[in-house]
Amino acid sequence: MTDPLVAAKARYEAERQKRLRADGTGQYSIFEGEHDRFDADPWAGAPEPREPISEETDVVVLGGGFSGMLTTIELKKQGFESIRVLEKGADFGGTWYWNRYPGCRCDVESYIYMPYLEETGYMPSERYATAPEIFEHCQRIGNHFELYQHALFQTEITSAVWQEDHQRWEISTSRGDRLRSRFMILAGGLLFKAKLPAIEGINTFEGTTFHTARWNYAHTGGSPTEPMTDIAGKRVGIIGTGATAVQVVPKLAEAGAEVFVFQRTPAAVGVRGNRPTDEAWFRSLPTGWQVERTKNFTAAVSGDEPDVDMVQDGWTDLMWRNTQRAGATPEETEALERDEFETMERVRDRVAEVVADPETAEKLQPWWGKYCKRICFHDEYLAAFNEPKVHLVDTDGAGVHEVTERGPVVDGQEYPLDMLIFASGFEILSGYTRRLGFDPIGRDDVALSDRWANGAHTLHGVMTAQFPNMFMASITQASSGTNFVHFISEIAAHIAALAARCRDNGIIEIEPEPEAEDEWLHFLWRKASKAARGDYSAACTPSYFNNEGVMTEAGARNVVYPGNMAGYVDHINAWLAQPTLEGVRTVITPRD
Ligand code: NDP
Repeated sequence: MTDPLVAAKARYEAERQKRLRADGTGQYSIFEGEHDRFDADPWAGAPEPREPISEETDVVVLGGGFSGMLTTIELKKQGFESIRVLEKGADFGGTWYWNRYPGCRCDVESYIYMPYLEETGYMPSERYATAPEIFEHCQRIGNHFELYQHALFQTEITSAVWQEDHQRWEISTSRGDRLRSRFMILAGGLLFKAKLPAIEGINTFEGTTFHTARWNYAHTGGSPTEPMTDIAGKRVGIIGTGATAVQVVPKLAEAGAEVFVFQRTPAAVGVRGNRPTDEAWFRSLPTGWQVERTKNFTAAVSGDEPDVDMVQDGWTDLMWRNTQRAGATPEETEALERDEFETMERVRDRVAEVVADPETAEKLQPWWGKYCKRICFHDEYLAAFNEPKVHLVDTDGAGVHEVTERGPVVDGQEYPLDMLIFASGFEILSGYTRRLGFDPIGRDDVALSDRWANGAHTLHGVMTAQFPNMFMASITQASSGTNFVHFISEIAAHIAALAARCRDNGIIEIEPEPEAEDEWLHFLWRKASKAARGDYSAACTPSYFNNEGVMTEAGARNVVYPGNMAGYVDHINAWLAQPTLEGVRTVITPRD
């Protein structure tokens, strides 16, 4: 009898092969040019007219999501006062400003995902809070830490040029502002550039269409807090089956729509177990509990096997043993592989248990390794396929390639629809300047897109040569983690401390040496190859985790610090604690 692990690996490879495509990340487009109609802000009207601002600041922070907010708070803690935050949305919130689709919630426990619960005295109402509650918490944080006074909303950077003579960034915005700033911090977060599959005919569809990050309640009825009232009996299609679609599909079904779920790759859907917060328990937590719980979770899902599992949810259950743990012996690696296979079998068995029709259940089973994509957690998604009005249109890995004025075409069959919703995700590791929407110009007039023509060059993922005093809060050549807000909180503190160190030591300019960037990259590559199954990602089904399966030089440079994010944080903070900052060029003489 074939070893089930060997059989599963063969199936993983066969499924991967079906999905490989030469255009890789090129299969997606962003909301520009012919797609810019997808970008309209459904939550705010046209910006109120205001006079352009011309000012000199210590720091300009790009982004008013958790990344920009937490960085600004850390800068204020370090004594910076002259800070401008530039944000495209009309409020703080970032991903929680834009994403207000029905069913939207955090997929990491709110007690460790929603920052500053102790400082603001706020108790999330549920273990996995809804998007409106998280968005409201962003506003609470904005008020509590007095961030609003720093913000320019509905304002986008159009250009940022390093002024050699003044040793400052000159930043222009879509509102005609001109800011001259000592530091520029790019804190746009992870999910700020929504993407669409470049499907033939996508613009010919005559029904209502939108991306989940710009939900159109004017057409569906309802609101982020009320059920949709206008789609009962309508034929609604959704393209994508990732974390977003998993949350949306049950809501479409609940509202009585005839739902068509166009699937390329099935999601892995673990048990959610959401419940209201036990107030007595929450109020009994000791001072400092949030940081401790947050660190414990990150350790638990990184395979560090801490003494206690404080969170004890689907994440820690499925991720407790980490197949990619560095330093494992071949025997340990095999045991970890077997463990991973059994975990994914549990996920597949759940589908078979919940979904009544065996053929549909088989199509909904994920055949990929557990680190190839982000696992989803939901208790109603799979069950929704038992509703007669919910139809799975499985494309057997091919995806939707054609849309007519009536609807998508799969296997020669057209699916006429009233509404076509794109739950097609976000650009995460594509070209940085494409995602930023402007191309910073550094020392000697070099454009970031030129300096990074063959991919990212950074020290710690935070700085890049020829771009003095520009700091990036980004995962590229840095780290990440299941709880992205934990990563952001650490990188925000590091960047603010770095800026303070410059200020306190009279450092007017700081940028890495190119040699130090190369050393950092090679250090990351060596570390990645030492991780058990260092080639793991290359053997994965295509996704944003592995550059859609196409390994380019730029893609290979998009490496992150493997293993526990705490290792990365310790590394960069130890560097900053040294009496001399290694690997950087500094200038201490002001020129003006
Ligand atoms: P994803 O990138 O995870 O999913 C996009 C989906 O679109 C995939 O299923 C993809 O298929 C599918 N797709 C793309 N092109 C086609 C095509 N031509 N035909 C059919 N299907 C297609 O985006 P999400 O918005 O779901 O999630 C992105 C990230 O956002 C998550 O990983 C998570 O980090 C975060 N998120 C977090 C939530 C939370 O609760 N905190 C909730 C929602 C999202 P394929 O898999 O084959 O590429």
